[in-house]
Amino acid sequence: MQKEVQYIKGVGPSRAKLLRTLGINTVMDLLYFLPRRYLDLTPLNFEQGSTDSVGAFPCVVTDYGYEVLTRSKIKIVKIPVTDGKRKGFAVFFNQPYMKNAFKPGDRLILIGKIKKSYGEYEILNPEWQKFDEINLSDYTKICPIYPLTRGLSQKILRKIIKNAFEEVLEVDEVLPPSLLNDYKLMPKLYALKNIHFPESWEKLKKAQERLAFEELLLFQLAMMVTKRHIMGEKRKNIYRDFDLKPFLKNLPFSLTEGQKKVVREIISDLKSERIMNRLIQGDVGSGKTVVASIALYLAAKNGYQGAFMVPTEILSIQHGATLKKYLEPLGIKVEVLKGDMPKTQKEEVLKGLEKGSIDVVVGTHAIIQDNIKFYRLGMVITDEQHRFGVRQREALVRKGYYPDVIVMSATPIPRTLALTIYSDLDISVIDTMPEGRQKVDTYVVDESMRERVYKFMEAEVKKGHQAYVVCPAVEESDTGLASVDEIGRELAENFPHLRIGILHGKMKAEEKDNIMKDFCAKKIDVLVATTVVEVGVDVPSATLMVVENAERFGLAQLHQLRGRVGRSNLKSYCIFITRSKDKNVRARLNFMMKTHNGFEIAQKDLELRGPGEFLGVRQHGIPEFKFVNLIKDLKVLETTKALATEIIKNDLLSNPEYMGVKKAVEEKLKII
Ligand code: ADP
Ligand code: MG
Repeated sequence: MQKEVQYIKGVGPSRAKLLRTLGINTVMDLLYFLPRRYLDLTPLNFEQGSTDSVGAFPCVVTDYGYEVLTRSKIKIVKIPVTDGKRKGFAVFFNQPYMKNAFKPGDRLILIGKIKKSYGEYEILNPEWQKFDEINLSDYTKICPIYPLTRGLSQKILRKIIKNAFEEVLEVDEVLPPSLLNDYKLMPKLYALKNIHFPESWEKLKKAQERLAFEELLLFQLAMMVTKRHIMGEKRKNIYRDFDLKPFLKNLPFSLTEGQKKVVREIISDLKSERIMNRLIQGDVGSGKTVVASIALYLAAKNGYQGAFMVPTEILSIQHGATLKKYLEPLGIKVEVLKGDMPKTQKEEVLKGLEKGSIDVVVGTHAIIQDNIKFYRLGMVITDEQHRFGVRQREALVRKGYYPDVIVMSATPIPRTLALTIYSDLDISVIDTMPEGRQKVDTYVVDESMRERVYKFMEAEVKKGHQAYVVCPAVEESDTGLASVDEIGRELAENFPHLRIGILHGKMKAEEKDNIMKDFCAKKIDVLVATTVVEVGVDVPSATLMVVENAERFGLAQLHQLRGRVGRSNLKSYCIFITRSKDKNVRARLNFMMKTHNGFEIAQKDLELRGPGEFLGVRQHGIPEFKFVNLIKDLKVLETTKALATEIIKNDLLSNPEYMGVKKAVEEKLKII
């Protein structure tokens, strides 16, 4: 299979060189060179065709071809044809030799877009095949279209690949026969054949599924093998006390159904023989913090310390305050560890953690530093997981003695993607919102509305509410993007009675904290900020979010920003300002006006931008999949994840039947 592509019929040295530019060196590369798309070549008559999509038209040549000069002085060749009923022309631009390519009576299949011009049909620059040249049984109604390089045509590449299949009689079947059988998977070679020359749309789909299945299974196994040291380990920390009554009594509200369901899942993890590794997903405002508090509460009640890691100092202060409120009346000691604490205070906290007199610590990645030691760290929680790398998460885990792990994600990640990125985690979703939440009225406006937006802001502040203005840039520059500096100045000049605050990532941690504290304490009316406010901050009396240059942000991010308001029973508003007139941009932003479900928004964002862009970071180690479509292949993802878990749990990789799988996983591990 590592045979060089030159040995295939139809490939000489010069074509081999062309193929190399496409990354095709071996015969196997050729079989794995995927069509970008497929044409539906179900035969159509002229009337059934359209100007929008390519069709296949069987027809007969009725007369000799001739040349015409168009009004714009382009030479074209017209070949008169009929589909049996209607008259039409095959029209070739800049190909004078086509004039003599056909003679009356020739039967052709023309492949192209068709349009009607002065009552006659024209098929423009069609691909064509003569009927007597094609073996009709060979004529595939689904035609692959490959990404090409100059000097290589679709026709030639198709022929080369066809020849390759004639020479390759078998390929390494990685999956054991029992799996192929159980999951009704096609043999690999047959699947590959159907990827290139599908016998039907059905078979094409099955073939794609078959290859995606193998690709994903190997990927998931590789991920699980690398992370085996933190997953699937036997539980060491024993839980006996699951009484939540004291906690719930101290809570000012009752849990939503979604929260209850996730709490049940956590409890069942803590009762199980395996260490917990759970991702909690929930839309902004769904109440993830309470659920985390319950896990920390249970840990403390059973004698284990908990650590809650958050991405920003502001959040650590907020979460610290929340946890203190929930836990300290119940005798659980909570401390916040800050980067810029006075030394003596910090040493107190460190000592408390080491001695075990502090039960719960909240902090940024400061809590994974080397000098921090725990007495008995049993519960590790990270909030806004996507901000942390896997390594930071693991560093925290290593500080404990086989701790249970919860990661929380506020960017709702579509299930397909979550299953892939977090293949080592079980996934819980808080799928209900606390009662009484109103949806945030959302508007997309252009510059002409700016003044009215400001007036509206003024009116909101008069009611005692607060507003955010989020800008894509910090300082003014020639990019023309709205900046915190500029908008802050403009507002201060025009509305001298408004108290304006400024917040961005270039400020010192202490400055940022002070501003945020002032905003929470209502000493600031309007906070002009960059996306640092995106993450999890809770200011219930903020009722207006204005986003400048909204087109610069992804949908999921806009949804996060919108989630900063509407956090109480006050009516809230979100206004996206954009200068863009682009139809697609407008459509994208308008989507936010009608949709308020974070998962739907995330799914749309993923479709629009693809997984890499969507996540914003590439540290997740998601490879470029060849056959897997992370947006569509949910079923395969779920099936292979369950199967991979089984394989690892039952140690099937050491089973001779799984030798091929094992070898392939080891190959994969080299590149992950
Ligand atoms: P997120 O999931 O975005 O992190 P938070 O945990 O910050 O959400 O919760 C958002 C707000 O909802 C908080 O003010 C919290 O007190 C409140 N909240 C959480 N759960 C409930 C509930 N079951 N009923 C009423 N309010 C709740
Ligand atoms: Mg949160």
